Amino acid sequence: MTPEPKLDLDQLTALAAASAQVTQACDCGIDAYREWTRVPAAFPQAQLRSIGTLAGDPYADPTFAEYHPHGTNYWSPDAPVALQHFPYNRCAVQQCSVCQRCCLTYVEAGGYYVEPRIRALAGQTIVDVAAPD
Ligand SMILES: [Zn+2]
Repeated sequence: MTPEPKLDLDQLTALAAASAQVTQACDCGIDAYREWTRVPAAFPQAQLRSIGTLAGDPYADPTFAEYHPHGTNYWSPDAPVALQHFPYNRCAVQQCSVCQRCCLTYVEAGGYYVEPRIRALAGQTIVDVAAPD
């Protein structure tokens, strides 16, 4: 298995801009997931193809620090996508093969559960700010 290409700020910004232009209705419903959402059981996973990752060094522990300079929080639809912050620093970038919308996905692991989550990649502010040590 070849490792997923790591996407940088420019690549992700271009994908988000293109994704935001899509108006076609689609079974994936990615456009409805403006904020982090549990992946629904009926989600058409087979339509998605992986196009890259935002995760860094697999041997480093990615930070859990979040980036919210303008009063957003994890669940905000307008929370910035901060590449070096949680949870974006462990996300996969996927694209619907039918409508071409892009989304971010990762698995949230709590004490007693694991939950796959999805957020549309469309028009957010995307920043590449260093995380605190
Ligand atoms: Zn779609």
